[in-house]
Amino acid sequence: MAEINNFIKTIMQSDLDNNRVEKIATRFPPEPNAYLHIGHARAIITNFELANAFSGTTNLRFDDTNPAKEDQEFVDGIINDLKWLGYTPSNVFYGSDYFEKTYEKAILLIKKGLAYVDDLSQEEMSKYRGTLTEPGTNSPYRNRSIEENLKLFEEMRDGKYPDGAKTLRAKIDMSHPNINMRDPAMYRILHIKHHRQGTKWCIYPMYDFAHPLQDSFEGITHSLCSLEYDNHRILYDWFIEKCEMEHVPHQYEFGRLNITNTIMSKRYLRALVDAKKVSGYDDPRMPTLCGLRRRGFTPDSIRNFILSTGLSRVNSTVEADSLDEELRNDLKLKAIRPNAIINPVKLIIDNYPEGQIEYMDCPNNQENEDMGNRKIAFSRELYIEREDFIEQKPNKKWKRLALGVEVRLMHGYFVTATSVEKDELGNITTIHATYDPKTKSGSGFDERKPNGNIHYVEATTAIPAEFRLFEPLMLDATEENKDLDFMERLNPNSISIKSGYVEASLKDTKPLTHYQFVRNGYYVTDYDSTENKLIFNRTCGLKSSFKM
Ligand code: ATP
Ligand code: MG
Repeated sequence: MAEINNFIKTIMQSDLDNNRVEKIATRFPPEPNAYLHIGHARAIITNFELANAFSGTTNLRFDDTNPAKEDQEFVDGIINDLKWLGYTPSNVFYGSDYFEKTYEKAILLIKKGLAYVDDLSQEEMSKYRGTLTEPGTNSPYRNRSIEENLKLFEEMRDGKYPDGAKTLRAKIDMSHPNINMRDPAMYRILHIKHHRQGTKWCIYPMYDFAHPLQDSFEGITHSLCSLEYDNHRILYDWFIEKCEMEHVPHQYEFGRLNITNTIMSKRYLRALVDAKKVSGYDDPRMPTLCGLRRRGFTPDSIRNFILSTGLSRVNSTVEADSLDEELRNDLKLKAIRPNAIINPVKLIIDNYPEGQIEYMDCPNNQENEDMGNRKIAFSRELYIEREDFIEQKPNKKWKRLALGVEVRLMHGYFVTATSVEKDELGNITTIHATYDPKTKSGSGFDERKPNGNIHYVEATTAIPAEFRLFEPLMLDATEENKDLDFMERLNPNSISIKSGYVEASLKDTKPLTHYQFVRNGYYVTDYDSTENKLIFNRTCGLKSSFKM
């Protein structure tokens, strides 16, 4: 399996060599306000794999300092997804568990004259902030005395003020060239119940203040985050220094992962779920880890996909197709290859004895003998794929069945189509054929070359099954639709449902079992599948459909 290698690994190695750190400690800090998506997988895999490479540690820390959208459902989902990906955190912590310690550090800054309580409203504050080209203006409340600030901050904590009435801000420099340094907010008032703390707090620390402190409390050495925090690093270091933190962590940024035609932002994923455009966060079309799992992707395919995208200080966009390629690489030699007929038509072999069933030897995986063999049924009545038959062979390229043409039924016999039955609309309902008993699979018959190989399932033992086929949720960007809202660019055909048959060996299939259906693609058993109704999701095709 691929090994992680990137610029952060180089930094870590040199930090160890120079004794800046003794042991690598990283963390993955998701906000429990949604399910994890494939973009998060980059952050997870980067943190865990880098720490593992140096026998270090990785904490899972729920960044739950914003109570508005956080929920236990997402905490549980995130823990479950990490476990599924194969990572066990060294510790599981919650940002909210540090509220008391964080509060004390805020008091310290007030006492040092480095923080003040401001009465400006949110809108006023942004007006005072200035722009990239113009300096900001000091708030009229900036010069409150230390005593007054201490008193007001305590009253904020005690719930004396309504939401937004006051803000605790760091006192840095309103004309700093980096806007993040223009007296950033440290605490705001929010009378909202917290999913873990209940109503204990009505002031909540801002990410920029809480995060560096949490990293320090936990002894994190390398705090990895995505590129948009690049110009927050200076503030990160400022808080660490001014709060007199004993342990000094360092922040490093890496590029975000984007995937073509894939919406990843939590806001959009939530909108899709809320508008019922998908069945839930784990809809197989969703780029969430739970959706990808249900779609049939494996932890190794995701991990290798992420590692194959590399890591740099540039945001990157990757073709969705390369995830399919990793899935094929992973399952090629691992998945059983049963016969399934997605779009069936009946094939009757008129010269085969009525009522007879033969059981034919069939390897579970043609490319991996270790997977052994199974028996598949053969009889007079079979189902084949409708696409494998045409009445008149159109040209030499047609390597399937046609009237008067002989093909090999894989793990069966050679058959020649003789006639068809049609309904009143002209659709073929049954194909009639004859077989040649000499051509039984395994007999070594080689006197004739058939016009191709097709697969089948025996009709009396076949199990009806539903197949769910997917296309991207979003249509390709075109000149006409490029400015449309993402909800209007949704692909109306992103799911199609087919009814067909699978061979009897799949009777006891369990959700999340992976298969390569012969000549068709990779499939996985869906959660909705029951003994009475088997349901399979198509993960991807057998070959790349990537258009150059
Ligand atoms: P979104 O922008 O999708 O809402 P987020 O960044 O707000 O996601 P968090 O829960 O804060 O979500 O993310 C946890 C970690 O995952 C952060 O360190 C974040 O940088 C990282 N992360 C999220 N999306 C991506 C992505 N597409 N590529 C790389 N890292 C990501
Ligand atoms: Mg975030």
